[in-house]
Amino acid sequence: LNDHLTCDVAIIGGGIAGLCAAFAIARRGRTVVLLEQDRVGSKASGVNFGGCRTNGRDLLELPLSQRSQSIWHQFDAYAGDWCEYRMTGHLEVTTSDDGMAAMEAWAAKASDFGVTARMLSASHLRAEHGYLSQRLAGGCFVADNGSANPRLVVPQVARRAQACGARIVEHARVVAAEPLSSGGFRLATVAGVAVSAPLVIHATGGYSGQTAGDLFGEAFPVERIVAQMVVSEPAAVRIAPVIDFPLLGRYLYLRQTERGNILFGRGSGNYDPFTDRAAFLGQNLFDSSAVAAQLIPGLGHLNVLRTWGGLDGAMPDWMPVLGFSGKHEGLIHAFGFSGHGFQLGPATGEVLAELALDGKTPTDISGFKPNRFAHGLRDP
Ligand SMILES: Cc1cc2nc3c(=O)[nH]c(=O)nc-3n(C[C@H](O)[C@H](O)[C@H](O)COP(=O)(O)OP(=O)(O)OC[C@H]3O[C@@H](n4cnc5c(N)ncnc54)[C@H](O)[C@@H]3O)c2cc1C
Repeated sequence: LNDHLTCDVAIIGGGIAGLCAAFAIARRGRTVVLLEQDRVGSKASGVNFGGCRTNGRDLLELPLSQRSQSIWHQFDAYAGDWCEYRMTGHLEVTTSDDGMAAMEAWAAKASDFGVTARMLSASHLRAEHGYLSQRLAGGCFVADNGSANPRLVVPQVARRAQACGARIVEHARVVAAEPLSSGGFRLATVAGVAVSAPLVIHATGGYSGQTAGDLFGEAFPVERIVAQMVVSEPAAVRIAPVIDFPLLGRYLYLRQTERGNILFGRGSGNYDPFTDRAAFLGQNLFDSSAVAAQLIPGLGHLNVLRTWGGLDGAMPDWMPVLGFSGKHEGLIHAFGFSGHGFQLGPATGEVLAELALDGKTPTDISGFKPNRFAHGLRDP
């Protein structure tokens, strides 16, 4: 490959943010080239838990999250294929009265954003979710939440984007971004392909701290985080909703696939710079398995089939960076999804297309300003 491509918008990063943006831009009839250093979806977007929740989200994220939810609700039509999106509901449970009070306060505020959350007392939980530990104080349930299969979602969105005319180049790590005198950048890749575009979307997930600095000379307090997942053999118990359970400062997240396997995770793993991979941490496997069996006693005897990890970028306030660069015209940042950006992906793509093609978006993304940490402290 030794091509020099030109297009309306170039995208760096083939995770859910970049791919949904490529799809949204191509659907609007504009030319777009997406450059991915590996295979699309090989990082967080393709290996995550697949949870699609508004439940418990920071209020700042709810406008974007609700917009995404409306796409998830008709995801088969959006993606043109079944990606196992199921609207099973999302249930957060707690063992404490304080936890109940916090969820109740959140539910009251979230209703202003159109989220309908139902508080469940301990006896409601026992009646509706009898498989759960009897020691829970209650929970908060959002019925229109659910989950999808990330291994299907990401390649399918890539195929849809390509069918609309997007060009996706894999194994093409962007190694240089040279500003053009006419605006925008010329991106050079290890694959020999170069792309010039007046607008560039920078969506490199767990690599964004490094790429923002190396390619664009911008510094962000974004850290690389690793989350580790576990999947068990199928269980006889039927667990309908996606479940979150905070315990000792960490969340257990758990759901059951249609076949019966239990998918769960808890805690952070390590990044291994030598292999550029999420390293396996035995303690996460044992800890998350123990907490899962504590929450749902019927799971205690199950064998684990496998465990894996994925990388994401996290900001100090756990909010993404989404918006125009303060340093370069023609550069839009979309990263730092801080462990919960899969659900936000479809709406993020639409917002990015609006920013790139219209210069503005109707969705409130004011909490995600790229320069909010420019002076160390978060600007209001
Ligand atoms: C185990 C795990 C479980 C999770 N569970 C959930 C969940 O249940 N619900 C939820 O909403 N979120 C979840 N998340 C978070 C979610 O997966 C991420 O926030 C989201 O996928 C981030 O998408 P992205 O497009 O920003 O990044 P990524 O998916 O990381 O994509 C960025 C891409 O950029 C590429 N790239 C980097 N540098 C370059 C370069 N120089 N040139 C070209 N390409 C480059 C990378 O290879 C990568 O493919 C989870 C994450 C993990 C790891």
